[in-house]
Amino acid sequence: MDVTPILESLNEAQRKAVTAVADPLLVIAGAGSGKTRVLTHRIAWLIDVEGVSPQGLLAVTFTNKAAAEMRARVESLLKMPVNHLWIGTFHGLAHRLLRRHWQQARLPQNFQIIDSDDQLRIIKRLIKNLELDDDSWGAREVQYFINKQKDEGLRPHHLDDEKDPNRRQQIALYRQYQEICDRGGLVDFAELLLRAHELWRDNADLLAQYQRRFRHLLVDEFQDTNAIQYAWLRLLAGKTGVPFVVGDDDQSIYRWRGARVEHIGQFQRDFPRAGMIKLEQNYRSTKTILDAANAVIVNNSARLGKNLWTEGAQGEPIRVYSAYNERDEANFVVGKLRDWSEQGNARADAAVLYRSNAQSRVLEEALINARLPYRVYGGLRFFERQEIKDALAYLRLISHREDDSAFERIVNRPTRGIGARTLEEMRSYARANSCSMWRAAGAVASDALSGRASSAVVVFLNLIERMAKDTDGLPLNEQVDQVIHSSGLVEFFRKEKGERGETRIENLEELVSAARGFVPDPADDMSPLDGFLSHAALESGEGQADAWEDCVQLMTMHSAKGLEFSLVFLCGMEDGLFPHQRSINDQAGLEEERRLCYVGITRAKKTLYITHAEQRRLHGTDSFAQASRFIAEIPDELVEEIRPRVQVSRPMRPAANARRRSGGSIAPGSEIGVRLGQRVRHAKFGEGVIMNCSGQGSHAQVEVNFETAGTKILVFAYANLDLM
Ligand code: ATP
Ligand code: MG
Repeated sequence: MDVTPILESLNEAQRKAVTAVADPLLVIAGAGSGKTRVLTHRIAWLIDVEGVSPQGLLAVTFTNKAAAEMRARVESLLKMPVNHLWIGTFHGLAHRLLRRHWQQARLPQNFQIIDSDDQLRIIKRLIKNLELDDDSWGAREVQYFINKQKDEGLRPHHLDDEKDPNRRQQIALYRQYQEICDRGGLVDFAELLLRAHELWRDNADLLAQYQRRFRHLLVDEFQDTNAIQYAWLRLLAGKTGVPFVVGDDDQSIYRWRGARVEHIGQFQRDFPRAGMIKLEQNYRSTKTILDAANAVIVNNSARLGKNLWTEGAQGEPIRVYSAYNERDEANFVVGKLRDWSEQGNARADAAVLYRSNAQSRVLEEALINARLPYRVYGGLRFFERQEIKDALAYLRLISHREDDSAFERIVNRPTRGIGARTLEEMRSYARANSCSMWRAAGAVASDALSGRASSAVVVFLNLIERMAKDTDGLPLNEQVDQVIHSSGLVEFFRKEKGERGETRIENLEELVSAARGFVPDPADDMSPLDGFLSHAALESGEGQADAWEDCVQLMTMHSAKGLEFSLVFLCGMEDGLFPHQRSINDQAGLEEERRLCYVGITRAKKTLYITHAEQRRLHGTDSFAQASRFIAEIPDELVEEIRPRVQVSRPMRPAANARRRSGGSIAPGSEIGVRLGQRVRHAKFGEGVIMNCSGQGSHAQVEVNFETAGTKILVFAYANLDLM
């Protein structure tokens, strides 16, 4: 048997891992040290050398794409197809099990998977039927509660109400939601994992059968497994299974979604015989990039500690660009990408990474202008996002009452009690009279509908009329700002707990920014609103590269995990954006942000650009920020500043929010003789930049972002600030 191809191009430690005897093994290693490669080669080794049947292996990866790549690599190492190899994500594998054993899982044969939107609709109906107060019983909160319990492996009967009436109600809703799903044969995402776990837990024979079949369990990105995933794995491993897990504690970035890096320690307790191998040689990045990543992550306290090194070249310095604003930043990035592409490099080997989804808009615009094909990976393009389409639909209806698709999209969004029956009435009236839904709504409201349905429709019609009147003649950005609020959309998404709702609101606010920056084409004979709407429509259809086309990759740092590119940009490296404002004052949160930064830096093979903007308009607000503290953690000798930092100057137009906060139309701070963005010095806190001003006279307060002391809110009259 020729084993060389499998062990070829592996280093000593990697070979040790690939050829390890059949005992549980933990491979803990830094980014780019070959963990995924080791896992792939281990599969090939087991099949080819140890004679394990492909059917006897189960491999778990983080995405379906990674699974497909892994299968292809194994096949090319073995030079034969491995169709019976089970390889996929936790969700994908759980689904397969439930399909095979639907009876034992107590599911109908044709059970349906529901996505998060479907799940939400069921919960909403439930809340409505119970006639609970809509405001205190946000469907999104209930959804979050249910999924969280499921991720922890908990059914309603496991939960104690802790004598809290709110919690009691949440548990009751969870129970009823599950009854509805069970009656209808519906399975949500979290249920896939939980149900698959229970399937094995409650069917000893079946479990034994799978334990005999899958002796070798291989898991990539182990640091990001949640409680139920780990429990599932442990069940399957039992006493005889051989788990082979690879991960990097420094790359655990999904704590907010229930991932537990503690599983690494847990694994060693649960499998006392487990060996541990560390891989320390990095094959991905230049020495400069690696040194930078190491210098950043060393600032975290909770670490297993690893020493990554490379034999590779020192490489180019990391280039830090201080942009004036987000447009300058985007133009810089796109300029470099164009050079890259013109030099004959593959565009797909370049990635633009950012912290928050909303940042993609300005970058996308610059790419479209430069005619550079791009793909937004793992996320929708800005104008295709659900919340943006909702807001645009309101604007479209304000502009053209006859726009039926806009009407249909928002007539009951946010929910306002216009049900399917009412809608059907309107549709049939519109069909019979060949008129728009808008007219049909007016007509059926006044004669065909019941009192309650009719008044719901009238409320909607009046809302649109009022918004049209109130926004008439306003500047475009103020129109958009008013519409996202008075439509109730912002309020609606605020109730969607967690990261997702927040992202949607950020995107809506970003739409206000887009409107402010929109320059109508003078050749177009249209109102600014109509000009903007057609711009949005065109943008959502154009630009996105075809699947086969070589294109630049845009994605959040979270979705870049496990990937690598020769050229990488980390954009928006500013305190408040990255690290995210939410996490700045929370040690654990800040450390997770730092791990994310480590993930970002280590995606780069050869060239890394870091960009930040002195002034950024994001989520509809102008802000002034200091360069991210993570940049300062990179040693100076690894960095080349592309342009000397420029002094922030006063914004042309103070942000709408700041204006509202200061309670008047004068520029914030002008009354006390300071301006936003002004540099100041404080006796104790040192130098910083004024971020915000509020209050008046002797009550006036300033928010200052100090370079070392962080953000402070000071009473201006007592702070004795030196204005610089
Ligand atoms: P991450 O933590 O980002 O997931 P990883 O530890 O999984 O990284 P891999 O993606 O497996 O690392 O490997 C990083 C790069 O280094 C890949 O391009 C891989 O092919 C290459 N590589 C790994 N080991 C070797 C080796 N021994 N010789 C040559 N190249 C290697
Ligand atoms: Mg990997």
